[in-house]
Amino acid sequence: MRDTASGPRVLLKRLRELMQEPLEPQERLDRIVRDIASNMVAEVCSLYVLRADSVLELYATEGLNPNAVHLAQLRLGQGLVGTIAASARPLNLSNAQEHPAFAYLPETGEEIYNSFLGVPVLRAGRTLGVLVVQNKTMRHYRDDEVEALETTAMVIAEMIATGDLARLTRPGLELDLRRPVSFTGLSFNEGVGLGHVVLHEPRIVVTNLFNEDSEEEVRRLQASLGSLRLSIDDMLERREVAFEGEHREVLEAYRMFAHDSGWVRRLEEAIRNGLTAEAAVEKVQSDMRARMLHMTDPYLRERMSDFDDLANRLLRQLMGRGPEDVAASLPKDAIIVARSMGAAELLDYPRDKLRGVVLEDGAATSHVVIVARAMGIPVAGQMKGAVSMAENGDAIIVDGEEGIIHLRPQPDLEAAYAEKVRFRARRQEVYRELRKKPSMTKDGIQVDLLMNAGLAVDLPQLAEAGAAGIGLFRTELQFMVASTFPRAEAQERLYRDVLDAARGKPVTFRTIDIGGDKVLPYFKGAIQEENPALGWRAIRLTLDRPGLLRTQIRALLKASGGRELKLMLPMVTELGEIAQAREIIDREVRHLSRFAHHLPTSLKLGAMLEVPSLLFQLDELMKAVDFVSVGSNDLFQFVMAVDRGNTQLSDRFDTLSTPFLRVLKQIADAGARNHTPVTLCGELAGKPISAMALIGLGYRSISMSPASIGPVKAMLTELPLDELQAFFDDNLMAPAHGLPMRALLQAFADDRSIPL
Ligand code: PEP
Ligand code: MG
Repeated sequence: MRDTASGPRVLLKRLRELMQEPLEPQERLDRIVRDIASNMVAEVCSLYVLRADSVLELYATEGLNPNAVHLAQLRLGQGLVGTIAASARPLNLSNAQEHPAFAYLPETGEEIYNSFLGVPVLRAGRTLGVLVVQNKTMRHYRDDEVEALETTAMVIAEMIATGDLARLTRPGLELDLRRPVSFTGLSFNEGVGLGHVVLHEPRIVVTNLFNEDSEEEVRRLQASLGSLRLSIDDMLERREVAFEGEHREVLEAYRMFAHDSGWVRRLEEAIRNGLTAEAAVEKVQSDMRARMLHMTDPYLRERMSDFDDLANRLLRQLMGRGPEDVAASLPKDAIIVARSMGAAELLDYPRDKLRGVVLEDGAATSHVVIVARAMGIPVAGQMKGAVSMAENGDAIIVDGEEGIIHLRPQPDLEAAYAEKVRFRARRQEVYRELRKKPSMTKDGIQVDLLMNAGLAVDLPQLAEAGAAGIGLFRTELQFMVASTFPRAEAQERLYRDVLDAARGKPVTFRTIDIGGDKVLPYFKGAIQEENPALGWRAIRLTLDRPGLLRTQIRALLKASGGRELKLMLPMVTELGEIAQAREIIDREVRHLSRFAHHLPTSLKLGAMLEVPSLLFQLDELMKAVDFVSVGSNDLFQFVMAVDRGNTQLSDRFDTLSTPFLRVLKQIADAGARNHTPVTLCGELAGKPISAMALIGLGYRSISMSPASIGPVKAMLTELPLDELQAFFDDNLMAPAHGLPMRALLQAFADDRSIPL
């Protein structure tokens, strides 16, 4: 038993010395293979390194023809070495030539070596090369020898990853580690970001590989495992912020793995072979990851990622590092690459250094995506495998338009994207200039361009985008990025900050619009619904849970003491709902005045027009409220009976179709008839062509995402409204040549050089 442990220990000690000696990289490799051969009593020891062109190149050998170094090559999957690299599994053969994959390379001068042991050189689950020993005699290498060679391979992986071998590569034949790769996933937020990878959960680089005292190291491992288990139990109880939005299932999986006896046994074995506890964690993890690459079961792959996270946590425990170190030395063009992350974690990064976010998981509705969108950061998601392929500091491009990322891009691709970014920046410059111009059509009609917002991070955009105010403040976003219901004080603080930032510009707060696709994981009481979009949501829900509405209204009233408060109700279906909400508001006003609170100077109550039932009582609606705001996202969904989140249908029906434009016109006309201000705050307002249509139909106030204000204003200032009105008079009831309205509008703009 002593013998089997001392072999690898002696070898590792020797490798440590070699790593510290000031040697040229080739010399160091040559000595490493010589020492491995002698330690393992093998006639041959060879190292093959995987190049970016999927070829394994012989980098060093003891025993084969030395002239074959850097000449002998195998393709991935070819021969025994290629098979090991492709499968990321060791091969242990007593008669190598009998193996079906055996291939003879004449340049190596290979004699008859019967026994063959080859292991993959792995790092973070990626194959970087293959390490082989061979003997003439027919022998079967023992398990502890396999283990020893794997451990040695890990040292070599570090050498490769730290760039030690870079000087041995020839131009055009770079190592696989530096290979450019692209991933295609989904676009979660538009924009293009060029920068450098910052792994959100940084792969901890274990630099201290060799232990001095195995027993002490095992004790250290046990102690860290103990703390890790406790911290998981603790998280399960507290639902830590970092796990906001994550399923409890993930934490349960962590707990199960942290107690997995097979894992712990393999860790201890690696330590007994001479590794430090940290290096042992990395080795076992890398082995498992590599094997996992060939699994197709998505559930198992997912669990493997959980296991990865757990190993990272264990490494942090061992190295005494907390998550607070994560953002310590951020490049000025950071692109965060994460498996998944909480919204609060993104807010921990300094905004001025963020150029993009890449997520392996996530959905367009994830909290982190909502926040990133509010911050105007490009996000690409569903990038499976991105984390393990990326190294901190790698160049990366996030294309949030197409949902693509390019890791370690080729110079021409990088140049093309840099041009794209410059082009966007130039356009932004034009928009910035436009801020100074009055918000008027070419023929002098004022149109207010407001912005949509929902979080404190949105507020700087108010000045940057030159918005006339906030036309829709989605108060539910604060609820969606929190892990429990925000307390009354937190709500009041946010509303006050918003009004302060607006500096007298109008702000319209919408009462919480949850339900449907906007779920709060901590909100119990929601039932499983067959049709959530038509279900218990928005005003329906808050009228049933008046406590929620009361708290919010009180916070809004207090925050707007001495200023105007504009409040609107989402998803109103019948006028009775407005009356009920008004009763609750009035009660809160009475309550606050009884306690001599500073009240708003005026209170305006509006309704969102999102449900078609209101179209059939437009005049009554206009009389029942102080203003109406059209929620075109939901209104379109209900008028056309098309789920707004269904990507399969997203291009099928046109928001500028004749019937929908007629609906929008009826609403504008009813507002004008009743002297009730009407605005529109759905996505429709943010596209220049549809904004143009809205203005032509009578809308004089529209609210959109801050990034849209520039392009819409560029259109507005070139728009001759009188001509557009005449165009609608002619076409809305009878489109020319039966053409689609979108095509007619496009032609109208093209004829007049209106930028759309
Ligand atoms: C809408 O429905 O158009 C709207 C503005 O509300 P939301 O997108 O938040 O549902
Ligand atoms: Mg809506």
